[in-house]
Amino acid sequence: MVLLNSDICIAPWNMLRIENSGNCYICTSNFHKISLGNIFEKSFDEIWNGNEIRKIRKNILSKNDYSYCKTELCLKFGVNAIESYGFKVPEELEEYTKDYPKLIYFAFDCSCNQKCVFCRDEVSMMSKEEVEKWTNVFEEKILPIIKYVRIVELNHAGEFLDGKFSRNMISKMLEINENLEFNLITNGVSFNEKNIKSLGIENKINTIHVSLHSATRETYKKIFRRDNFNKVIENLEYIKRLKKDNKIKNFEIMFVICSLNYKDILLFINLTKRFFARPSFSLINYNSGAEYASEKIEYEIFSPFHRHYNNFVKILKNDLLKEYMNSLPPHLLTLDYIGKKQVISNYINYFKRRKDK
Ligand code: SF4
Ligand code: SF4
Repeated sequence: MVLLNSDICIAPWNMLRIENSGNCYICTSNFHKISLGNIFEKSFDEIWNGNEIRKIRKNILSKNDYSYCKTELCLKFGVNAIESYGFKVPEELEEYTKDYPKLIYFAFDCSCNQKCVFCRDEVSMMSKEEVEKWTNVFEEKILPIIKYVRIVELNHAGEFLDGKFSRNMISKMLEINENLEFNLITNGVSFNEKNIKSLGIENKINTIHVSLHSATRETYKKIFRRDNFNKVIENLEYIKRLKKDNKIKNFEIMFVICSLNYKDILLFINLTKRFFARPSFSLINYNSGAEYASEKIEYEIFSPFHRHYNNFVKILKNDLLKEYMNSLPPHLLTLDYIGKKQVISNYINYFKRRKDK
C-alpha cells in the first residue's frame, strides 16, 4: 500500500497512544490496525520496543510497507510531525530505538461533562476503581519515562478539564519534567484563563484543538446536547489572545462532519478565520479512545447512500473549502481528485469497514 506521497511516516519512532482499554497504538486505533500490547500486562519497554512495533518499523524501513495502516483514513501524523515538531529524520532510524517516544497521546481518562452524539449517550466520568487502576499504571509505567517525553497530548478520550485524574497527572508530570509541553484537546467549555493558569500550563502549551463541530448555537445544541456555544466562543477569545501573544504554537478548531452539522461547514470556516485558527475536519467514527455512543447510520452523511449525500458533495465542492482540502480525511478528498473508479472503491472499502466493526 502506498501513501499519498513518498515521505516516510516517523510515527513508529516518536509517538505512542495509550487507550482506555490499556491497548497501545502508534497513532490511533482508528488509523492503525495493530495494538502494540496492553499497558496493564506489559512493561513500557515491552510495548515500545516489542515484536509488534519492531515488525512495523522494519516493514516501513525495508519495504516502505504501510499495510498495517488504514491509509484511506490516515492523516500521516508521522510525516507532518517532522515539520511541526522537528522530530528525527528518517536516515537515523532503525528497527530498535533506544529513545523513548517524544509525543505521547493520552486516551484513557474518559471523564467528560458533555454528551456529543458521536461520542457518548450519557455523561460519563471515570469511576473510583478506574482512577485507582490508572493511577497505578500511570505512576509505575508512564511517569518514569515522562522526563524523556517532549509533548503529552491529552485528552483523546474525554475532557482533561473535567476529571480530577487528568489534572493530577498534569501536576505530577510537571514536577518531573518542567520543560514538558502539552497539546490540549478540549471542548472549550472550561478552557478559560483561570482554569489554565491554576494548572500552571499557560506557558507550556504547544497546540490547542477545540472541538466545536458547529458554527451556530442551534447546531451546537444538536451535537453536544448542551447549550454552551456562547461560553465556548468566549473561551475561544482567550485562546486567540494566547496565540497572538505567541504563547501557543498551533490553534485548531475541530469539526467532525455528520448529517447534523454538514450545512455549517462553510460558516465554520469563516468562524475559524475570526479566531485565527486552522479548521480541522474529520469524519464521525464513534471511537475516540472510549466507545460509548451507539452508532447511527443516519449521521453518516459521507455515505453515498445517505439521502442528503448529494447536498453534502455540493458543499465539498465550494471554492471556500478548496484551501482546506488537505485537512479533510483522505477518502473525502478523493471525491474531487481521484475520479470515479477510486471513488467507487472507496465506497466499497467504507462498507467493508462497517461490516468488520
Ligand atoms: S502512516 Fe498513518 S496509520 Fe501508519 S503509523 Fe503513520 S500515522 Fe499511523
Ligand atoms: S466528543 Fe469530546 S466533548 Fe464530546 S462527549 Fe466526547 S470527550 Fe466530551
